[in-house]
Amino acid sequence: MSRFIQVSAPDLSGNEKKYVNDCIDTSWISSNGTYIKRFEENFAQFTGAKHAVSCCNGTVALHLALLAFDIKPGDEVIVPSLTFISTANAVKYCGATPVFADCLPDTWNIDPLDIKKKITPNTKGIIPVHLYGNPCEMDEIMAIAKKHDLFVLEDTAESHGAKHNGKTTGAIGDIGIFSFFGNKIITTGEGGMIITDNDELANKMRLLKGQGMDPNRRYWFNIVGYNYRMTNIEAAIGLAQLENINEHIKNRGQVADWYKEFLAPLVENGQIILQKITPNSENVWWMFSILLPEKSRINRDELAEKLLKDSIETRPLFYPMHIMPPYLDKNAACPISEQIALKGLNLPTHAKLTRDDVLFVCEKIKQYMIG
Ligand SMILES: *Cc1c(COP(=O)(O)O)cnc(C)c1O
Repeated sequence: MSRFIQVSAPDLSGNEKKYVNDCIDTSWISSNGTYIKRFEENFAQFTGAKHAVSCCNGTVALHLALLAFDIKPGDEVIVPSLTFISTANAVKYCGATPVFADCLPDTWNIDPLDIKKKITPNTKGIIPVHLYGNPCEMDEIMAIAKKHDLFVLEDTAESHGAKHNGKTTGAIGDIGIFSFFGNKIITTGEGGMIITDNDELANKMRLLKGQGMDPNRRYWFNIVGYNYRMTNIEAAIGLAQLENINEHIKNRGQVADWYKEFLAPLVENGQIILQKITPNSENVWWMFSILLPEKSRINRDELAEKLLKDSIETRPLFYPMHIMPPYLDKNAACPISEQIALKGLNLPTHAKLTRDDVLFVCEKIKQYMIG
């Protein structure tokens, strides 16, 4: 019996423990402290953005960004149907309406043509999601936004360090948000970051995340704010994670290369389909995923069940948002998202996997798919 192969696992082998102990030894454990500033500064540098604003998770990062754009009831924001639910929920928190766009059949990212179709006089912005670490078609999306005077909020929760045309994802649109949940590219346990080059938006988000307190007058509040702050302990973990992010991304790339090598026979025969990397892009492989074709010997859920019996953990792709009860919309017209969501499986993808682990996973997939 082999060891249990998790779908994801954080790598905490750097300075994480040392920095956390420092927080405890100095008693700076709440949302003041030097690690917050250092993490924000280093993160801004890593992405090439002017400002980085930390907050308590990626969902909150989306909410703060939408508040900074002044999104209100009656407004519409275009989001992909194939995403994690936070992208849609954050729009709902503002009382606005998420309008779902379909994805491209090969890269699985939001389809620029469908964005165009879904623009109305109420549309205020677009939230492209770099799904599973694969950058969106940002040139086309930015051009549409410019033409229709829309904001672009990049949901970079899954693609820290991914690049499109040499630019880091998150730093291409007006604002980019990141998640540091335990299974993301780097983690702080729970945590989020927002990046932007715009001084006004950055100031607004800093104000909102700290209860809206007037920076020049203690306990004076001109607006209704939130407590959306990150703690110094989380930032300490984040700083240590960031020190090793390039190594970490390299290891994920190696894992993806092994998958591509070992699964090549199945791909060539059309027995599985891989997510296509967007042209001119560097994917950071948050999740290496496969699609089972229409006429498959075994269906997605059966395959996942069998792999689990072999101690291999997998995840189904996200369900499309327009079939979720809070967002149910039979007229959403996102057929590609539906097809992909129901046939796709995320395979174990993290920096600590060995070649033998990946080989084992692929051998088992071959056994169940071709016998
Ligand atoms: C993880 C994730 C989020 C939310 O991040 P949390 O830190 O868990 O709140 C948002 N969008 C996408 C696409 C994600 O994958």
